[in-house]
Amino acid sequence: MTRLRELLAVDPGSFRLDKTDPRGTPGLPDTKAVRKDPKAWARAEVTTIGTELAAYQEKLFAAAKRGRTAERVLLLLQAMDCGGKDGTVRGVFAGMNPTGIKAVSFGPPTDEEKQHDFLWRIDRALPPAGHVGVFNRSHYEDVLVVRVHNLVPEDIWSQRYDQINQFEAVQAEAGLTLVKVMLHISPDEQRQRLLDRLDDPAKHWKYNPGDVDERAKWADYQEAYQAALTRCSTPENPWFVVPADRKWYRNWAVATLLRDAMASIDPGYPPAEFDVEAERQRLLPAASTSDSHGS
Ligand code: ADP
Repeated sequence: MTRLRELLAVDPGSFRLDKTDPRGTPGLPDTKAVRKDPKAWARAEVTTIGTELAAYQEKLFAAAKRGRTAERVLLLLQAMDCGGKDGTVRGVFAGMNPTGIKAVSFGPPTDEEKQHDFLWRIDRALPPAGHVGVFNRSHYEDVLVVRVHNLVPEDIWSQRYDQINQFEAVQAEAGLTLVKVMLHISPDEQRQRLLDRLDDPAKHWKYNPGDVDERAKWADYQEAYQAALTRCSTPENPWFVVPADRKWYRNWAVATLLRDAMASIDPGYPPAEFDVEAERQRLLPAASTSDSHGS
């Protein structure tokens, strides 16, 4: 594991969400540039990482197209309301090729989805080989909002942690690299972001009065997150908790986690399946032909 992965990964035996500082900035390098202006440094770094991500994305896509890999990558984002999921996606994926990205948001299950088990809609939304996917919310809602609001009986939701671990293990076997990130904000930061939405008419569409009702259940949500993070952080599919009150740190950390994941499965460019030199000769005019054209 790289340093940032180690710092942010959830250790099921010792992790405590209530001891994790949402304003923290763990893992920033200790350099002059960072000390001088961490925000400017992080923003520039995200742009650089974006270029690397685009290159990894292209190689993954090319290798899958040639049938050389079944690998795919999925960034899964969970957060309290106003946690910055959309902003993270905009910031981290800015340099990548949108045609190779599959982004999916999950709301309350539709009538059709309710006819199936909770992982049915998730399975259908996974990225195909060679693609990079992003989930805005996920199957974890089925042990978060569902647990907090008792949407199904406890004997049902309590079995879901194991079911999730099994599902994710099977997907890992099939070539899915899952980067599970909880964006961790403080209640004060959430209040400020909600107030900002009220202050700006261009943001009213983002304001949902229901978010204030959910906010009243903060402690219940934190408890549900603590359980999900510790029960479903496995060596194969660890959870990462990213302090997210500072947007510049959040984007840098998520971009870095995604870059490290993509680097670890980099298949390289597929070799040509034709004779490069012969093809060049077919395209270049023969010397005599070019002479006749030249005069
Ligand atoms: P977001 O807040 O992610 O930008 P929305 O405002 O559309 O998007 O909120 C999606 C809502 O869907 C959230 O309130 C979330 O709790 C709810 N939701 C997602 N998955 C489920 C689920 N499995 N069961 C019940 N509610 C869910």
